[in-house]
Amino acid sequence: MPELKGLNVKMAEVRELTDAKGFSSDPARIWEMLALIHSEVSEATDAYKKGEALEEVGEELIDAIIRILHLLSTLGLDAEAIFEAKMAKNWQRPTKYGTVRGG
Ligand SMILES: [Mg+2]
Repeated sequence: MPELKGLNVKMAEVRELTDAKGFSSDPARIWEMLALIHSEVSEATDAYKKGEALEEVGEELIDAIIRILHLLSTLGLDAEAIFEAKMAKNWQRPTKYGTVRGG
């Protein structure tokens, strides 16, 4: 169990909800969980495309975050440690890294 700080606090909150509501946290279902993350991003895309209120788009993006936190919990990962390490790595990268023409 990762230390309860930063992102791990929200991950624990999500896990409490998913357990209480009967959602599976079986690591064997990782493909399904990944697909559900995709589906939430697609729902956000669709809401934006339809001109829905930005709050609706935001709600779908939060659904994606919830599903991501659920998966990170299922995998037993320390979300906060991974987040901090990744942010530090990204700060070391050049401006607009990974873009074709600096777009
Ligand atoms: Mg949704």
